[in-house]
Amino acid sequence: MEVSLSSIRKSFGKHEVLRGIDLKVEEGEIVALLGPSGCGKTTLLRIVAGLETPDTGEVLVGNESPSSKPVVGFVFQHYALFPHMTVFENVAFGLRVRKRAQRLPEPKLRKRVEELLALIRLEHLAESRPTQLSGGQRQRVALARALAVDPAVLLLDEPFGALDASVRKELRRWLKKLHEELRVTSILVTHDQEEASEIADRLAVINHGVLEQVGTPHEVYSRPASPFVSTFLGDANVVQAEVHGGSVRAADLRLTLNGHAGHAVDGKKATVVIRPHDLELLSTAESAGYRGDVEDGLLATVRRVRNTGPLVRVDLLTKGGLSLEAQLIENAPLEVDAEVSIRVRSHRLFLE
Ligand code: ATP
Repeated sequence: MEVSLSSIRKSFGKHEVLRGIDLKVEEGEIVALLGPSGCGKTTLLRIVAGLETPDTGEVLVGNESPSSKPVVGFVFQHYALFPHMTVFENVAFGLRVRKRAQRLPEPKLRKRVEELLALIRLEHLAESRPTQLSGGQRQRVALARALAVDPAVLLLDEPFGALDASVRKELRRWLKKLHEELRVTSILVTHDQEEASEIADRLAVINHGVLEQVGTPHEVYSRPASPFVSTFLGDANVVQAEVHGGSVRAADLRLTLNGHAGHAVDGKKATVVIRPHDLELLSTAESAGYRGDVEDGLLATVRRVRNTGPLVRVDLLTKGGLSLEAQLIENAPLEVDAEVSIRVRSHRLFLE
């Protein structure tokens, strides 16, 4: 079923946590709500689950509002498993507490739970207690328990947030595969952009209760709608600049204005966002005849070089005093204090 949110607003006291959210999650899709701590992700998820009521706006799961209790599966960050029950009984729980008329006969119920345990690859631990499982195994059980009742929508609130990095990586691949098999409409809350991009079909980036952008991970990364989105997804150099004579300038950085931006009036403020891998470094010898303060290029000194696995991060200070970071894949023989010229391969411009 699809989930449709329109004009959702929610305040706690004087604090407006959600400021008019419109979002549609298509049937079978997995959308990640992504944003910094406190931006309102969990509140929005709780509203979809019917655990919280919006002040204004409408939520529909299929054609129903949460108050009519469509079946929603919820997985929390902290494994809310029942410690006194076996893994099998934890997964069976939602099926056993159904109204008598809807309850499955015992053999069918056992078959359904066994199928779910096979799906999460924990058949061999059916008789274990949650305390005997690892954190990752417990979250898989929590997911099977949420799926047992055939939810119309699956809501996942930082499901891997309490696990260590390597288990998280493994589980997110696993979750992605599972979702591809089951195609249950799902909403995942996370503040981890790598996790969101790997699992979700689309990202919904929220900042201070406002939905800044919705799109595929590639769209949001390569065509961010705001400086906030640019910096929240991936690394970025953010430079405050001003329009002058058909170009945008900040210290010695000068970039030609194209398209609509070409008509911007002098003095207009702008934010320039440059991904570190979009800075190309040339030794000054290579760029003989190439001066600073020319279109799309400038001169700088290397301040620091850090090798972080396959990436080399280079801190630069331009002649005009701009601090920029470049990221190179090759292990370039760059030394601190070396003079380089920089070419900006690509950038995003946000006019105010
Ligand atoms: P995190 O990633 O840290 O979990 P989040 O984006 O999920 O953050 P929410 O949990 O939705 O954020 O909280 C958004 C804001 O609303 C926070 O400032 C929080 O303190 C506040 N808030 C949430 N629930 C309540 C509540 N029941 N009463 C009062 N304030 C609340």
